[in-house]
Amino acid sequence: MRFTFSMTLALLMSSGWALANKTVTVYTERKDHLVQPVFDAYTKKTGVQIKFLTDNAATLIERLKGEAGKSPADMLLTVDAGNLWSASQAGLFQTINSQSLDQNVPEYLRDPGKQWFGVSLRARTIVYNPDKVKASDLKSYEQLAEPSFKKRLCLRSSKKVYNQSLVAMKIAENGEAATEKVVRGWVSNLAAPVFQDDTKLIEAVAAGQCDLGIVNTYYYGRLLEKNPKLKAKLFFPGKDQGGAHVNISGAGILKAAPQKDEAIKLLEWLTTPEAQNLFADINHEYPVNPQVKPSSLVQSWGSFDTNLINISKAGELQAQAIKLMDRAGYN
Ligand code: FE
Repeated sequence: MRFTFSMTLALLMSSGWALANKTVTVYTERKDHLVQPVFDAYTKKTGVQIKFLTDNAATLIERLKGEAGKSPADMLLTVDAGNLWSASQAGLFQTINSQSLDQNVPEYLRDPGKQWFGVSLRARTIVYNPDKVKASDLKSYEQLAEPSFKKRLCLRSSKKVYNQSLVAMKIAENGEAATEKVVRGWVSNLAAPVFQDDTKLIEAVAAGQCDLGIVNTYYYGRLLEKNPKLKAKLFFPGKDQGGAHVNISGAGILKAAPQKDEAIKLLEWLTTPEAQNLFADINHEYPVNPQVKPSSLVQSWGSFDTNLINISKAGELQAQAIKLMDRAGYN
């Protein structure tokens, strides 16, 4: 864990300029190299300094609880809606009434109680080896439970919040019994023990160890950037199948934020066209603002329909999803 000042601040200090008196403090689960250039751009534009602390969301939430209203933090930024939901349940966030946030962030990607908002969108979808699977034979997440996929499927561990959110959203869409049946089918179709990360899973698909799997698209983007000939393609379930499962990297303003107004301005700016590409493209993600197009690499994977159930369900049903996966023998 460490505090990092934006590079611009370091430059200002070294050149002996007066310190700007406005500083927004962000606790972020999103990695340093993914936020630093975005924060630097904001500082350059507004003069407002951004100080940030990076750690995983559970640790940051515990830290905020421990700081009990005396935290220097103004904003909590996470990479999954489930963690934002937990923070709001813990009473850490304040309600934000902002016309621009309501306008820039589609309703299903923000808290109905206005405590947190999506900033970028990540799709968790099907990756397949084109030598082993025809795209025209693919349909849905549910389909991967069918016996025809026996010993062909690879999955990441159920301990990862991304899979907990996927299963929670499937419970919201289809109910618990139907979802449990699907998860049991996935487990019985596994070609290998569960993977600890998405990147290794995609590499296993490309190497032919498994025919297909479920991953976040930006991991695919990173691998594709290194190896344009990667033997793996993405498939997005269609609208008639509920659409592709999406999650958000998003943020809320803390109840005890010392710089509330400046923090709201920063959050609003992050959802504007100016910042959206900077924030999303850097990690091969999708902008949440529907007026903004993704990067050309991301666009090359094709457009798709997203599941439109409010992403807060990923938090609300997380405990239920964890229990379900445990019962189904999904490690
Ligand atoms: Fe990730």
